[in-house]
Amino acid sequence: MAHAQVIRGVPSPTIRDISVIATAPAGLRLTVVKITTDQDGLYGYGCGTFTQRAELVNAAVEKYLRPFLIGKPADRIEDIWQACYNSSYWRNGPVLNNAISGIDQALWDIKARQAGMPVYEVLGGKCREAVDCYTHAEGAEIPETIDHARKFMEQGFRHVRVQVGVPGMEGYSAPHRGDRVAGLHAGPVFEPRPAARRALALFEAARKELGWEVELLHDMHERYTPNLAVQLVKDAEPFKMFFMEDPLSPEQIDYFRQIRQQCSTPVAMGELFNSPHEWTPLIRDRLIDYIRIHVSQAGGITPCRKIAAFAEMFGVRTAWHGPGDVSPIGHAANATLDLVCPNFGIQEYSRFNNALQEVFRGCPVLKNGYLYVNEAPGWGIEVDEKLAAKYPYSSFEEEEKRRLNGGWGEIRKRDGTVINQ
Ligand code: MG
Repeated sequence: MAHAQVIRGVPSPTIRDISVIATAPAGLRLTVVKITTDQDGLYGYGCGTFTQRAELVNAAVEKYLRPFLIGKPADRIEDIWQACYNSSYWRNGPVLNNAISGIDQALWDIKARQAGMPVYEVLGGKCREAVDCYTHAEGAEIPETIDHARKFMEQGFRHVRVQVGVPGMEGYSAPHRGDRVAGLHAGPVFEPRPAARRALALFEAARKELGWEVELLHDMHERYTPNLAVQLVKDAEPFKMFFMEDPLSPEQIDYFRQIRQQCSTPVAMGELFNSPHEWTPLIRDRLIDYIRIHVSQAGGITPCRKIAAFAEMFGVRTAWHGPGDVSPIGHAANATLDLVCPNFGIQEYSRFNNALQEVFRGCPVLKNGYLYVNEAPGWGIEVDEKLAAKYPYSSFEEEEKRRLNGGWGEIRKRDGTVINQ
């Protein structure tokens, strides 16, 4: 057991126990790590959500990090992060990074609760009053997407992501109408060329109908071949997009150089990144405009504030991944980074349903397109563990019927070739 130090006459807290709160109030598997200390009432929560492989993260926390960390001083956050990162020898994978994130964010919660401050104060204080957000507008047809975007603009959003369905195909994040395109297989079909034409038609109509004041974003979700991705980002240039997201898969990031050489459309990348080997060259060579990491996938607040500072040096701004498969603790961590980093760009917003707000009391609040964190100490969130237990993960049997067990399905081309999601 590490020797506890004494600061200002108060012994530093020691990690007494670590547990996992596995809950799914919105139907998505969330992993929240709770660390308790040897000081009465001093504990913290962290997000380690990797919804597609949640039970592996939970086992990594309970079976490996818990025994490794019990008895260690809770106030040495950087040291604990480094020790966890190196303790598996093989590293930078999504399961272990999420497990470390759960620990890391819980330790920041504890540190800020000790100080009686929100985490953003412990990290240096606000650079801005609130967090400007974008949300998702979608429709099977272009007019539906435009109407949806208009509703969000009326609610105060200044930034809207627009997606439209591709007739008969499984377009990303938008429903489709019409008979399914016949493929040489039984599952959904996606073909990149019709999707690219459809996206460009959407941008043209959106500018005509919504004007040029609203900021438009679009997620390509790594579904295109590299050359087609270069073409689509280039063809989107006249529509002055706020950014085009994930044009390429992580395996094809060298093609960002071609995008840069051919157009000035802003590019956001990185929600699938896990390793410094992925983001370092893109930021260093100024090949992207927004770094878009899923904070828990990179290992939590400790590495991501360094990534933000590194990006600041190269004029790259942040756009942390903020979908429904991040717990409210994770959203509070995102918003905290947004508040304290000078090079904040934009934040993806997902609405918290009633069940989430009951389990996680003190969720960040949206007003007029801006997100506000709770001002109570730490993340400002208390987890009702009894209520959380009433929203268990779907059973293996239920998932087995869908053959997914929490993961994603398959998307294939007409001929049966599997493509990136
Ligand atoms: Mg995305």
